[in-house]
Amino acid sequence: MAERLSAEQTLLEQTLREALDFARPHIGAGTVASYIPELAKANAAHLGACIMTADGGCLCSGDWQHDFTMQSISKTITLILALKLAGREKVFSKVGVEPTGDTFNSIVKLETKTHFPLNPMINAGAIAISGCCIRASVNPHGEFLKLAGKLCGRQNIEMDNAVYLSEHNAGMRNRSMAYLMHGEGVLECDAEAAVDLYFKTCSTLANVRDLAHYALVLANNGKSPTTGEVLVEDWIVRIVKTLMLTCGMYDGSGEFAIRAGMPGKSGVGGGIMVCAENKMGIATFAPALNSKGNSSGGLLVIEYLSQKLGLHLFSGNVHYGAEGNAL
Ligand code: GLU
Repeated sequence: MAERLSAEQTLLEQTLREALDFARPHIGAGTVASYIPELAKANAAHLGACIMTADGGCLCSGDWQHDFTMQSISKTITLILALKLAGREKVFSKVGVEPTGDTFNSIVKLETKTHFPLNPMINAGAIAISGCCIRASVNPHGEFLKLAGKLCGRQNIEMDNAVYLSEHNAGMRNRSMAYLMHGEGVLECDAEAAVDLYFKTCSTLANVRDLAHYALVLANNGKSPTTGEVLVEDWIVRIVKTLMLTCGMYDGSGEFAIRAGMPGKSGVGGGIMVCAENKMGIATFAPALNSKGNSSGGLLVIEYLSQKLGLHLFSGNVHYGAEGNAL
């Protein structure tokens, strides 16, 4: 049995290396985020990935040890925290569950459609649920870090202070959304407090191994692969993974669902995490982003792995090129 497992792991390791080799020539097609000045310092040549398997395997490749800020990936943790602290009814009285088709930082539907953000994976939605956490806890950032540490299987989870300050100083669009939502009664706490918690959570540091662990917790229906502890209740897992599948990759969510076929969440720090149901957690890091804010290299690594390992939820053995021209 041990021999068979190790042969499987070797094959997986080789597939992971191939996936990185497949993606590497194309990462130059993207650019690092610069609207948060501190993120502009990222190295566009970085590329790393990690796969954690339900049977205890952990395979890392490339720049896997490099810490980066979670950015939007943190929105999934804020959602879990808000659902735990404030409950389903409260959270979904503040935010919807529908994809927007707009960019992640769009303000337009808050004014033209409804003052309630359409889902928790866009900036406005994450700020609204940050407000729920603030109303429900005296130490929401502390609770966020504690939960993030457990989900990532990492003791010393912390915030990148320079990125936080950079977001705090440059995040006027996010601040505008917070004030608008406060004015319309969506936010029941101080607008500055909500946006400050949002900036702090986005600035949480992690590497791909941490995020693969977190992805595996969700793929495992909420159970930690390292401690066996149930970290997320099953009804919350269902909501979070469904929203990741429909809204997790910004306005590229539909295309990603067709090409990779797994619940995923990206962040403008260059990370992507995906959950292969009951099988594995996968995370990638490549800071050069495509026009929708998703990591160019990460998308290719995940699509390659999905095809080679048969991870697509709805199967269908279709082969795509790296150019992204086929759906
Ligand atoms: N902190 C970033 C922002 O507010 C997060 C964006 C993202 O990763 O999508 O713009």
